[in-house]
Amino acid sequence: MAFKLTYATMFNPPEELHKGFDAAVTKLKQNLGKEYSMIINGRDIFADEKFDDHSPVNTDWVLAKMQKGNASHAQQAIAAARAAFPKWSRTPWQERVKLVRKAASILEARIFELGAAMALEVGKNRMESLGDVQETADLMSYSALMVEQNKGFIKPMGKDPLVGYDATNVSVLRPYGVWLIVSPFNFPFALTGGPTGAALAAGNTVVIKPATDTAWIVRLYAECLRDAGFPDGVVNFVTGPGSTLGQALVENPEVDGVTFTGSFDVGMKMYRDFANRNYVRPMILELGGKNPAIVSRNANLTDAATGIVRSAFGLQGQKCSAASRVIVEEPVYDELVARLKDMTEKLVIGDPTERATYLGPVINQSSYNDFKNFTEEINQAGAKFLTGGHVKTGGMFDKGYYCEPTFVTDLPFEHRLWQYEMFLPITTIGKVSNLNEAMKIANNVNYGLTAGFYGSLKETDWFFDQIEAGVTYANRPQGATTGAWPGFQPFGGWKGSGASGKNGGGLYYVQLYMHEQIRTLVKPAASVKQAITKKTAPKKSAAKKVIKKTAPKKKAAVKTSSSKRKTVRRK
Ligand code: NAP
Ligand code: MG
Repeated sequence: MAFKLTYATMFNPPEELHKGFDAAVTKLKQNLGKEYSMIINGRDIFADEKFDDHSPVNTDWVLAKMQKGNASHAQQAIAAARAAFPKWSRTPWQERVKLVRKAASILEARIFELGAAMALEVGKNRMESLGDVQETADLMSYSALMVEQNKGFIKPMGKDPLVGYDATNVSVLRPYGVWLIVSPFNFPFALTGGPTGAALAAGNTVVIKPATDTAWIVRLYAECLRDAGFPDGVVNFVTGPGSTLGQALVENPEVDGVTFTGSFDVGMKMYRDFANRNYVRPMILELGGKNPAIVSRNANLTDAATGIVRSAFGLQGQKCSAASRVIVEEPVYDELVARLKDMTEKLVIGDPTERATYLGPVINQSSYNDFKNFTEEINQAGAKFLTGGHVKTGGMFDKGYYCEPTFVTDLPFEHRLWQYEMFLPITTIGKVSNLNEAMKIANNVNYGLTAGFYGSLKETDWFFDQIEAGVTYANRPQGATTGAWPGFQPFGGWKGSGASGKNGGGLYYVQLYMHEQIRTLVKPAASVKQAITKKTAPKKSAAKKVIKKTAPKKKAAVKTSSSKRKTVRRK
C-alpha cells in the first residue's frame, strides 16, 4: 500500500519524504525576505505600512515582508467578495467542487515547499508541517466530496396530502453570501483551508485573515487558490493586526457568516461583536482546549506513555488538542510517571527543519515569556518538574524561542493551571484513587475539545459515555488527545471549545455554510382537472373558450386540458 500521510502515520515516513523536504528547505532558504501583497478581487494590493515576518527558529531570519492592512482594506475585500457572490453562488455545484479539488491538488503538488515554509514560520517539526499541508488538501477534498455525495444538497421532500392539488417540495441548501475566515497561528493551513474549502464548495465567497505570526504561509495558501482559477473576488486575502483589521472585518455589516478559530477570549469577544447587528448570522467558533488523558490501573502503560508524550509536546504543546492534563489511577502512577520522564528526556529540541527534531521553538516572544512566567508560578506553588521547567539557552537556542518539554507533578488539582489553557509544552500530572474521581476532574473545565483514555475495553465504553468532549480516543499510542484527520476523526469541540456542535472534516460540516430553502410548487391535481372537465363536458366549446381566455399563453395548461377533452370524448 502506498504511504498515506496523516498525523497517525507520520512517525514512519518513507525516505523520499525526507529527501523532498530537505531539498525544499535548502531552496527556500536561498530566497527569503521577499515582499508579498494582499489579494483583493484577484489583484495584488499593497498597504502603506508593512511588517517583517521573523522566524521563531532564528529571529534574525526575515521570512517575508507582509502588508499591514487596515480598515479600508477590510472594506475593499468584503466589497469584492460581495460583488462576486451572485455569480459564484449560481455556478453549478459540480463546477465549484471541481475548483475546490483542483486547489487541493495544487497544495499536494507543492507540499514540500509549503511544508518547508511552515516549519520556518510556525516552528513545527517537518512531519507536523507536511501533515498540516496534507490535512488541508484532505479537508478541502472532503467538503467537495460531501457536496457531491449529497448532489449539491438539492433533495426532494415528501408530497403533502393536498386535496385537489399536486405539490412538489424540494429542499435546497444555499450559500449565505460573504464568509469571513479568521485563523490562528498553530495550524495556519488546515484552519484556514478547512473552512475556506467548505465555504467555497457551498457557494459562498470568502475573505481570509490569518494570524499575524503566520501571514506568510497563509499567503502561500491564497496563491494556491488563485492558481486554481477561482474567479476574481471569490477568494480575498488580507493581512494585518487582529485588533484593527480583524475587528473592522467582524464589524462590517456585509459579512454574512464567520468561521473563527483561535483563543476563547478573542472568539467570545468576536461572538458578541458579531451579534451586534440587525439579525442573527451564523458564526462557527473553534476555540481553546484543556484536554485530559486519563490512565486507568488496567492500561497498557507503553501505549499510554507514548501517546501522552506525543500529545503533550507535539508542536511544543501549542495544539488546541494538546494533552495538557494527565490524570492517573494511583496503582500505576509511579510506573507511568517514570516512563513519561524517560521518553521525554529523549526528545530532541532544535531547528524544526532538521530530521531528528521533535520540538521546535514556541511561536513568539510573548509565548516565550508566558513559559517563563508559568514555570515560575508552578515553582511558587510548590509543585515539582518531572522534566524541563526552563527555556533553552546557549548557541542557536539564544536566537529563537526554545522551551523544554515540561511535565509537572504535585500541583494541587485546585490550582488554576489545572484549568487554564497555557498553550505551551507544559503538562500537569495528577494522581487519583479511582476513575470516577478522574472523570470528575477531567470534566471540571470550561472546555471540551479532545480527551484520551487508556484502560480495559469495558472501561472505554464508560469513558466515551461520560467524557464531555468532541473528539475522544481510547488506547491510542499515536496520540492520546491529538492527531485527528478529516474523514477519520472529524474535529470540533463541546462547551467552551466550539459553538456549532458539528466537527470539521465530518459528515455535517459543509452544511453549516448554507441555509435551507424549501421550494414548494403547487399545481392543480390531475383528478381535479378531470372532474372540472367532466362537469363542463356538455358545453365543450364554452370550456374551450374559457381555457383559451384565462390561460392563452400557458402551453402546458392548454395541452393538459386538450388531452383531458379527448378522454372525455372517448367516454
Ligand atoms: P488568537 O490570539 O485568538 O488569534 C486568532 C486569530 O484572531 C488571529 O488571526 C488574530 O489576529 C485574530 N484576532 C485577534 N483579535 C481579533 C479581533 N479583535 N478581531 C478579529 N480577529 C482578531 O489565537 P492564536 O494565538 O493564533 O491561536 C491559539 C488559540 O487557538 C488557542 O487558544 C488554541 O486552543 C486555539 N485553537 C483552537 C482550535 C480548534 O479547532 N478548536 C484549533 C487551533 C487553535 P492577530 O494574529 O493579528 O492578532
Ligand atoms: Mg496570538
